[in-house]
Amino acid sequence: MPTNYFLIKNGYVYDPANGINGQTRDLWILNGHIVEPPSDPTVQPVRILDAAGLVIMPGGIDMHCHIAGPKVNTARKMRPEEKRKAEPVRRTAITHSGTMGSVPSTFATGYKYIGLGYTTAFDAAVPPLAARHTHEEFHDTPCLDKGFYVLMGNNHYVMQAVKEKDPEKLRNFMGWLLGAAKGYAPKLVNPGGVEVWKHHASGNVSGIDEIVDHFDVSPRQIISMLARSANELHLPHPVHIHCNMLGMPGNWTTTRDTMDALEGSRGHLTHIQFHSYGGGEGDENTFNSKVAPLADYINTHDNITVDVGQVLFGETTSMTGDGPLGYFLANVYGTKWFSADTEMESGCGIAPIKYRNKSLVHALQWAIGLEWYLMVNDPWKVAMSTDHPNGGSFLAYPQIIRLLMDRAFREETLQQCHPLVRERCQLGDLTREYTLNEIAIITRAGPARMLGLKHKGHLGPGADADITIYSPHENKQTMFELPRYVIKAGEILVDDGDIRQVLDGRTLHVTPSFDPGAETDIASWFEQYYSIRFRNYPVTDDYLQDPRPVACTP
Ligand SMILES: [Zn+2]
Repeated sequence: MPTNYFLIKNGYVYDPANGINGQTRDLWILNGHIVEPPSDPTVQPVRILDAAGLVIMPGGIDMHCHIAGPKVNTARKMRPEEKRKAEPVRRTAITHSGTMGSVPSTFATGYKYIGLGYTTAFDAAVPPLAARHTHEEFHDTPCLDKGFYVLMGNNHYVMQAVKEKDPEKLRNFMGWLLGAAKGYAPKLVNPGGVEVWKHHASGNVSGIDEIVDHFDVSPRQIISMLARSANELHLPHPVHIHCNMLGMPGNWTTTRDTMDALEGSRGHLTHIQFHSYGGGEGDENTFNSKVAPLADYINTHDNITVDVGQVLFGETTSMTGDGPLGYFLANVYGTKWFSADTEMESGCGIAPIKYRNKSLVHALQWAIGLEWYLMVNDPWKVAMSTDHPNGGSFLAYPQIIRLLMDRAFREETLQQCHPLVRERCQLGDLTREYTLNEIAIITRAGPARMLGLKHKGHLGPGADADITIYSPHENKQTMFELPRYVIKAGEILVDDGDIRQVLDGRTLHVTPSFDPGAETDIASWFEQYYSIRFRNYPVTDDYLQDPRPVACTP
């Protein structure tokens, strides 16, 4: 008879997945999970936390951030001027030292996320060739459960299968590649466009029906065939799409075309803020918000979810698998620039960026992000993100929460922006204010559902005991910046801002089934073109920190 119960009692519980909206509830925890209260009334918990007057939510889930892998690591090395200025993270008896700036070091990343009440995070863009490196960095990113998305929108084998119109070949490859990298979901970044960038000076595609030469495929074909493959493999999370034309005036039509290209398959459009712009091609003077028609599309289609990619004012580092975008940003801002080509697989661009509220473009980007939260009717369809660190740091999430819950604060911030912003978007007219329950949806319950993580994002029996407890405060930024307690796998890791205990965290990945016969063709392609041997490519289970495969079931 297990008696090692941990009881959290009397808290105001926000558990939208189970329909609990601020009611007082007790939570019983055993062996790292939430369980039913013991049926035997004589069973006593060994530990009790009285949460009377406190707000309880599931641990936060960041479904789109950049925290590990080659481009994050390069960005760290590229910004010594930031590291020098930023307050260092000091070593304690139980924690490592670290550095901050817009791209914190590995250990610091884990400590800062858990300090904010986040217990799970997904890196959104890893070239499979660098999967091993990413898993190694995960080992050094404590306190979080982690996974990553595998770049495949410009993969040569993928484009070959699309060209041959061979869905079976594509599905087998997707299944094999996710399993080989021990990744979580397929990621598309500027599908086809990065390949064009590698072939032509300043090359890119300008919509989804342009042809990628040599492969003779269009972005539309890549998107629809990969979306279908992901559906057929029953992946817990569908294709995760960074659309073509990121950041360009007038790109909203490309975004709408991408939604159409899914042809009813499930899909997730990421950092949608960067893809919702009206205006003439390359003309900043006509730049405006096109959230209304795109949000309407999301409101009327149930196969698509989005995360926002909110921009916050200040300095940060843009890092992307979108090679041509990195070049564009470095040219616009005259900053240093890094570009890389991962042989058969992908590209990468990194450049510092500073968002200013007096810039019309930047202020509109900020407003457009907020419009997305406020104009999608169903909060289950929109997840909070800053595309850390691209739009801003994950540490800005409490500020976004305040902007959504406090209309007066939003208006005050809008007043400090470039005066033309009001004319170019609808933000000033939007009266909606988020409730705590809706915040719990867009920061934990919704992302868990979008990711197909049945044991996360809620507080019902069977859920991981990842729990954040807040002291209520009128200023929601203050409330969410400093949780009273953060509990991971049933252990109190953070108590009033102090890290009391450190856990390693688990690796979330998928192992889809595919026809093993397909490996013969993949192997011979590898031996012909890759710089490494086929047998050295797949990451083995023993390389992962506490691996937790997530089932691929219909
Ligand atoms: Zn991203």
